[in-house]
Amino acid sequence: MLQFARTAEQIGATGSTLEKGRVLAEYLSTLESDDLSRAVLWMSGQPYGRSQRYRLNLGWKAIAQAVSELSDLSADELSRLYLKHSDLGDWGQEALAGRTGGEQVSLGQVAAGFDAIRLAGRAAQKQRCLQALLARLEPLQVKYVLKILSLEMRIGMQEGLVEAALARAFDVPLAAVQRTHMLTGDLGVTALRCQAGELATGELATGELQLFQPVRFMLASPVETAAEAFARMRTPVLWTEEKYDGVRCQLHLSRDGRCELFSRDLKETTAAFPEVVEAAAGVHHELLIDGEILAHRGDRVLPFSQLQRRLGRKLVSRRLRLEAPVVLIAFDLLWLDGEPLLDLPLAERRRQLEALGLAWPFLLARLEDAADPPHLEQIFAETRERGNEGLILKDPQSPYTPGRRGLAWLKLKRTLASLDVVVTAVEWGHGKRRNVLSDYTFAVRAEDGRLLNVGKAYTGLTDREIESMTNHFLAQTISEHGRTLAVKPEVVLEVTFDALQRSNRHRSGYAMRFPRIVRLRPEKPASEIDTLGRVEELYSRYFGREVPLAEVATGPGLEEAAAEAAGGESAGDGR
Ligand code: AMP
Repeated sequence: MLQFARTAEQIGATGSTLEKGRVLAEYLSTLESDDLSRAVLWMSGQPYGRSQRYRLNLGWKAIAQAVSELSDLSADELSRLYLKHSDLGDWGQEALAGRTGGEQVSLGQVAAGFDAIRLAGRAAQKQRCLQALLARLEPLQVKYVLKILSLEMRIGMQEGLVEAALARAFDVPLAAVQRTHMLTGDLGVTALRCQAGELATGELATGELQLFQPVRFMLASPVETAAEAFARMRTPVLWTEEKYDGVRCQLHLSRDGRCELFSRDLKETTAAFPEVVEAAAGVHHELLIDGEILAHRGDRVLPFSQLQRRLGRKLVSRRLRLEAPVVLIAFDLLWLDGEPLLDLPLAERRRQLEALGLAWPFLLARLEDAADPPHLEQIFAETRERGNEGLILKDPQSPYTPGRRGLAWLKLKRTLASLDVVVTAVEWGHGKRRNVLSDYTFAVRAEDGRLLNVGKAYTGLTDREIESMTNHFLAQTISEHGRTLAVKPEVVLEVTFDALQRSNRHRSGYAMRFPRIVRLRPEKPASEIDTLGRVEELYSRYFGREVPLAEVATGPGLEEAAAEAAGGESAGDGR
């Protein structure tokens, strides 16, 4: 484990992606198979591979408690130390300096420790198992074990870099590594195939795709205008599909009616949507469908808050089924009766999807061709008129590329900018909100994975949402600092704002004017929030550019521009 920690430390210390890859490749090539799959997963901040479908269910509270028991620091000192680092691993390393370790511990032993935590029933038992594991580790090892357990390595080792390191370590073509990873969705499995020489030819049968093994979802890149969409996609005709405001869903179905559903983060969600599963039993095909689940009645889509009542349910009551019924809007078909379809053009996949003649509660995504930017503008305006968020634009000739945010799918959303961010700290409210955690500080992600705060919002959620989020945040609190609680960064929000401005108020170097929460995004993992690069792009495109005074006078940002010109910081976060 020490070698792993030293390698991770070395990778984190260099800013060069080439050097990161070289260091990792060298380390990986020394490992035998069990350790190899552990190392690739852990380096990318995953305790287990996706195909294992394990969850540790280890709350930050249990982690904090375990460190606190082993350390000789007071609660106040620990909390100050956490605020200094804002990172569990760095915090644990310093808090336990000189208190733990002295034994040689292998990766296998650490993995056994993870299993013990996973299999322990209650939070207190999990904490004891973690404590026993940490007690055996040197502080540098503690640092990385805590980073893995909190699913955040923050050493700039994105999955793409791990793929490149595997290609290098085992001398296999990068494209073959990427494809195996795309299909298996599991870096550990991919690493083992590389090591076994199974990819050496650079070929991979699409037979690697297996039903009931969730495939990573294809993602869309954002564009701001119709003209940009055409410029980027370079196809004579663009397909436009409604951007449905529900949750992503992958349906796997066998001929004998076994059906499983998976969410965007590849967690199984079968139990939450029994009406889809029941209807699938009558389809009598082997299928893998990509689509979006919506709460829906008659010709109306119910508000997202209705769908939210269904999310995460292990059991759905009859009443809830009646109040918030769901449909699955299918927009892609990746497997049909023994044949993988990923490499076929979208137009052909759609043809086969339509030919299935699926019935309620299956619907097909609304599809319309756009021939040029004005035409696309018109379709966009119409969808907005219908109350939709925007459009997903697709290249009809494109294959399905799992896990990639490429240019074959684009999203054209509301014209007002919005960002997906993660909550890092919460604060008790005021007045009638004094008993709930209603004020959220949130961050975007830097290139190297660090979370950088960019704003704080107080408005947008309903009282009920705030109440239930209060319980959630209390369970995920890592440290308390007066009225503010630092929380595990996992709740994703979509926030909108009137303007972005440069500011040293937050670590990102930007602040928002009149930020407000559009909605909670429970289906979106924190690893997929918007980046600092996106903030910079929006800033320079819309808010940082010079515009004629007449235009500024009617738009946001005039006060700030004036205050900044005078050398002051005027902007609050909008309260
Ligand atoms: P965003 O969550 O803003 O990154 O937008 C991408 C998401 O839009 C996808 O993950 C889907 O859940 C959703 N979506 C809605 N309608 C479609 C569609 N027709 N095609 C693809 N994705 C869609």
